[in-house]
Amino acid sequence: MQEKIIIHGGFFSESSDSEEVKVAKQNALANIVKEAFEFLKTHSAMDAAVYAVSLLEDCDLFNAGLGSQIQSDGKIRMSASIMDGESKKFSGVINIEDVKNPVFVAEKLMSFEDSVLSGPEALSFARQHGFSYFNPETSSRKQAYVKKLAESAGVGTVGCVALDRNGKLAAATSTGGKGFELPGRVSDSATVAGNYANDFAAISCTGVGEDIVRAALAAKIVTRVTDGLSLEDACNKSMQELKEFDGFAGVIGISSTGEIFKVDSHPFMVWASYSDTLEVFQ
Ligand code: ASP
Repeated sequence: MQEKIIIHGGFFSESSDSEEVKVAKQNALANIVKEAFEFLKTHSAMDAAVYAVSLLEDCDLFNAGLGSQIQSDGKIRMSASIMDGESKKFSGVINIEDVKNPVFVAEKLMSFEDSVLSGPEALSFARQHGFSYFNPETSSRKQAYVKKLAESAGVGTVGCVALDRNGKLAAATSTGGKGFELPGRVSDSATVAGNYANDFAAISCTGVGEDIVRAALAAKIVTRVTDGLSLEDACNKSMQELKEFDGFAGVIGISSTGEIFKVDSHPFMVWASYSDTLEVFQ
C-alpha cells in the first residue's frame, strides 16, 4: 500500500494573519508533512500521526503546544487526542497546562484503561510519567491576549491523518482551544467529534468546537464511509448539514482505499499532504 499523509494547521485568519504569515505557514506545513511522510515509511500510521502533530505543536505559528491561545483568565489549557483505526482505541487529554506536547501525553494514555483525562489530573498523570514543566506561552500570543485581538481569530488547531504501508489508518489532533474561552470549556479536539478513525477512514477537524460537536463531525464522516459512501461524499454530506446552524469547520481525511480529501466551511483551512507528491494549500 502506498503511504499517504495529510496535516492541517487550522484556519487562516484573514483579519489577523498577513501574507508573510501565510507563506510561513505554507513552508512550515510543507516541511512538516515531508518529514512526517519519511517517518511514515518506516512507522505505523499511528506513530506517524503523533509525530506529525508533535512537530506542529512545536511550531509557534499554530495554535497547539507552543504558541497556544490564551484563555479568558490568562491561562493556556491545551487538548489533544489520538485514535488508532486498527485497535479503535481513543485517548486524549483535555485542558492540560504546562506541558510541551499534549499529543505525547495522549499517546502515553493509549495503554491505560482510563484513556481520557482532564485538567489538573491530566497534568499529575503527565508529571508522573516524566513530562516536565514547559510554558507554551509566546510573546505574540501574550500581546494578542493583552490587546484582546484573539477574539476574532481563535481557530488554528493542528491535526494529522495517516495511512501506512499496511493499510492502517490513524488520526491525531491538538489544540490550544478557540481563544478567550471560559476556563473549563471543553474543545472538540479531544472528543470523537474532532478526531476519529477506524479501518475505513480517519478524520481530524478544526473550527469552532461547539459546531463540530453539534455535528458529531469526525465520527459521522467515518461512519458514512464505513457504510459505503466515498470519503468525498461523506465529507460533503456532513459539511452540508453544518449549514443548518452556520457551522464553522474544516476537515482532513483519508480512506482505506487511499482517497485523500479536505474541505472547509469558510475560507480557508491551511493544510499539506504527501503521497506521490507534495501538495500545500495556496
Ligand atoms: N476546534 C478547536 C476548538 O474549538 C479550535 C480550532 O480548531 O482551532 O477548541
